[in-house]
Amino acid sequence: MNATVNSAERAVLDWLAQRQVAMVELIEALVNIDSGSADKSGVDAVGERIIRFLGDHGIRCDVIPSERYGNALRARVGGGPGRPIVLMGHRDTVFPRGEAERRRFHVADGRGHGPGCADMKSGLVMNAFVLAALQACSGAAGPVVGLFTGDEEIGSPFSRPVIESEARNARAVFNAEPGRPGGKVVIGRKGGLFMWLDVTGKAAHAGASPADGISAIEEIAHKIIALHALADPAKGITLNVGTVAGGQTVNTVAPSARAEFDLRFVRHADRDTAMAAIERIVATHHLAGATARLAVIAEFLPLVQSAGSKQLYEHYVACTQTLGLEVEGIHTGGCADSGFAASVGAPTLCATGPTGARAHSPEEYVEIASLVPRAQTLALAIMRLDRG
Ligand SMILES: [Zn+2]
Repeated sequence: MNATVNSAERAVLDWLAQRQVAMVELIEALVNIDSGSADKSGVDAVGERIIRFLGDHGIRCDVIPSERYGNALRARVGGGPGRPIVLMGHRDTVFPRGEAERRRFHVADGRGHGPGCADMKSGLVMNAFVLAALQACSGAAGPVVGLFTGDEEIGSPFSRPVIESEARNARAVFNAEPGRPGGKVVIGRKGGLFMWLDVTGKAAHAGASPADGISAIEEIAHKIIALHALADPAKGITLNVGTVAGGQTVNTVAPSARAEFDLRFVRHADRDTAMAAIERIVATHHLAGATARLAVIAEFLPLVQSAGSKQLYEHYVACTQTLGLEVEGIHTGGCADSGFAASVGAPTLCATGPTGARAHSPEEYVEIASLVPRAQTLALAIMRLDRG
């Protein structure tokens, strides 16, 4: 370790260095609780476990209750009136109830496995341990806030305003999504919308009186072709109709049809242009009498690297170098809560969590050896930002 680490920093780094086993134990506890986004009781059970851990380390946690989704938790370490440094993480996963029973957390070949182990229960654990280390060693000069939210995988319908209001005042935001193989962090993310399109036509006998019908399937087919034509790979705009459903029976003119699709974009301006084009497609009818309705299911804002976010990234890189580590910043088409933080102007860095991969799949894993170094890097970045 670099000799430039001072004694206050060393105390925090040493505290974390001794906690790998405890971190794995807490990851195991969290992974073995099912917490799909729609499973409020499961997401809140994960929250209770985190509240208990923080409480055991002298950290109070406020609960911001949600009726429908997992509650948002807000923990705070370090005093003073200063602007906070915010650590973010989400407790929900994409997996159904029963998955944790089928695939219990286990470690094999240096990797932890189990639903949500990388995305992002290890990140939650890392943030909680960093808060605990700062508390135990009085390492935080200014306020450090930990947000543990419960609905990221579905676009944070409840947590978004909580994140935005916290981020608006933040000096820096670190989102503990999994670090990419090799320890890479994420400096740019696409924004995205999930939408559905409903088309209504009119049923009629397909053989006896087809002219009395209006085929919702024919209408939606035209619309799907037009929607796919909006993709512009050179600009980083993608549009994919991922599901279609419709019709009644093979011998009936289809009275209804639905398509679900996913739009992604790099720049805020491209969102508005694409949405205007989508609205036009929805309003343009190929068959007289067909009607269409569009709804947004979820929305994520892009993580666009501002000057402040670039500085934060460079600061983080300098801290990894102090610890003898290496890190690189990458862009990804995946969406996350960091886009909401960055979009209100907070200097934001994403994927600072323990290294992992294959999120949303049964092959998901987290590198156990990355738990302590990632926590140490984050803690050092916080302490040096506090002083800087
Ligand atoms: Zn995630």
